[in-house]
Order: sequence, then C-alpha cells, then structure tokens
Amino acid sequence: MPHKHDPFFPPPGHDHRSCASEAIAAAETICQDRGSRLTALRQRVLEAIWEGHRPLGAYDILARLNRNGGRNAPMAVYRALDFLMDHGLVHRLASRNAFIGCRHPGDDHSAQFLICDSCGSVAELASDDVHKTIGRAAAKKGFAVTSETVEITGHCPNCNPS
Ligand SMILES: [Zn+2]
Ligand SMILES: [Zn+2]
Ligand SMILES: [Zn+2]
Repeated sequence: MPHKHDPFFPPPGHDHRSCASEAIAAAETICQDRGSRLTALRQRVLEAIWEGHRPLGAYDILARLNRNGGRNAPMAVYRALDFLMDHGLVHRLASRNAFIGCRHPGDDHSAQFLICDSCGSVAELASDDVHKTIGRAAAKKGFAVTSETVEITGHCPNCNPS
C-alpha cells in the first residue's frame, strides 16, 4: 500500500492528521476486503493509537477512550487490540508492552522496530534483508525460527540531527 505521507520519522509539527486519517482509511479497506468489521470500538482503539507515533500501553489506550466519561472495560480494549493485530493494523512492542500503528498495513512484511530513547517515537524498518539474515544465521545453528522480535533503541533523526 503506497504512502502519500511517509517520512520515516515524521518531524515534530508534521501534519499528523493525514497520518492518522490514512491509517484509518487503510484499516477500513483491509477490513472490507477480508469481510471483517471495523466496529466503532476497534476504530476508536486504532484512532487512540494513531494519536501519535509513540507506542501506547493498553491502559493508556483505555484512558484515552474513557477520557470523556466513557466506560469501556480493559477486556474490550484487549479484544479490539487482538483484532487489530490479527489484521496487521497494529504491532505490539514486546520490550514496552505497548502498541504502535503499522505503517505498512496490508503488506506482508517482517518488522524491526527502531525506538527513540529521547522522544519515544517508533519507526518500522520492515527490512527483508534483516529478516533473512536472522533466519539464515539461526538455520546455520539448526534453529528453526517461528517468531522474531527485533527492537532497537537509539536516537531518531529528529532528536539526533546529523
Ligand atoms: Zn504523523
Ligand atoms: Zn507493520
Ligand atoms: Zn526522537
């Protein structure tokens, strides 16, 4: 899926509304194509995640949903997150136990996450080379990879201008 709006680490002050609206539109298309329903709650969870480029924990998401007096339960949020992950719309960051919107929904991709220690932004590397290198290195040791988590911390270009 092509991105009109794809600086890798969007600079502060970028037009984030277009990031968010593109992501929601892509989610609607993907759900439609698969005969799944992006219910109101699922959409609101996705919108909460897309309020920025920083990962959010389930309870942060819940707090955003309920900030205007909503009464959503944690289980409902977890179920919505499961749905969004199953459809490749959201990724879970194991090291933070937090969730981030996928920038390549609908594309079959491996994901490596670059996590900025300064501003907390996360970008998805989606490098097939890295993925294959890990698979090959593991296979050489007789190890069959079934799942792969690559999370790299450092400083993003907005925090570390070079
Ligand atoms: Zn943005
Ligand atoms: Zn992704
Ligand atoms: Zn940063």
